[in-house]
Amino acid sequence: VEFKEADIRPKNVFDEYLRLSALDIPEYFQNVSMETVTCVACGGQKAKPALQKSGFNFDQCTECRTLFMNPRPAAEVFRRFYESAPSNSYWSNYFFPAVVEARREKIFRPRVLGIQSLLKKRGLEPKVVMDIGAGAGVFLEEWQKLSPSTELRAVEPGEALSEVCRSKGFKVLESTAEHAQEWHGQADLVVCFEVIEHVHNVNDFLASLVKLVKPGGAVVVSGLSVDGFDIQTLWEKSKSISPPHHINFLSVDGFSKSFLQFGLMDVEVLTPGQLDVDIVRNAMSDGIWNGDQWWNLVYSRGNECLRDFQEFLRKHKMSSHLWAMGFKPS
Ligand SMILES: [Zn+2]
Repeated sequence: VEFKEADIRPKNVFDEYLRLSALDIPEYFQNVSMETVTCVACGGQKAKPALQKSGFNFDQCTECRTLFMNPRPAAEVFRRFYESAPSNSYWSNYFFPAVVEARREKIFRPRVLGIQSLLKKRGLEPKVVMDIGAGAGVFLEEWQKLSPSTELRAVEPGEALSEVCRSKGFKVLESTAEHAQEWHGQADLVVCFEVIEHVHNVNDFLASLVKLVKPGGAVVVSGLSVDGFDIQTLWEKSKSISPPHHINFLSVDGFSKSFLQFGLMDVEVLTPGQLDVDIVRNAMSDGIWNGDQWWNLVYSRGNECLRDFQEFLRKHKMSSHLWAMGFKPS
């Protein structure tokens, strides 16, 4: 399914979200205590300053290239922000509902098909699937349409979203992954989409996903990668680099290393993203980025050239939308 940035992030809705986020920063992040962290992916201690945005500093690991906010506010500061900040209620009450059906068709359905096909190649047909940060349960609904006999479960910390998942008939644990002990060791497949870029402690978070899986089961995580074309090109001007929401951008290497650190095997990292080229084109037409002579030439060549270029990015793991998969030893 081919699609454009505007299908899933209409400019006016996205810009309003970014405007509210900017207003939340002085409200929630002024004069808070800050913690220094090592590389959130490989644990490496060597990092160099990479960029500053909205008053936050990001370092880049010299070992694995992962880009991460450092120093970062304490976990408690983020907890309060996610519970009550206007940008977050705008996301759940307005932004996501406005694009949910477009995302169902362009993102969630292809995601189910993609994951099922990857698992089939490894001979895994999961009986119990858990979606961590399940939101309104759209991934689980799409899974159910294709595989009605799978037991589908949601781990979702939001009270209202948990209720939505329950009303759709899914088993729900109203919790974060880090506090989901009662479901440890029960899933054949744990999936978690676009959460890792938000989490305060990536290590604790990934460890908790691995604990939810049975021996022989799989973990699939998707998220933003620093190695992606649009992020590399636009850097601090990238709308994806949006602190305080997005604070971790693992590299392809970083995802791979962190999965291996938690004992997962047969780790595979893919970048099936489709939007990098469109995102950069939009940044050029909005005057956020001027491009250079070569890019202007590429963009003038039209759709087939751009599609081929996006395909090149996918093939060589240079899209900013990344999937990482690994298996727990049996
Ligand atoms: Zn690193």
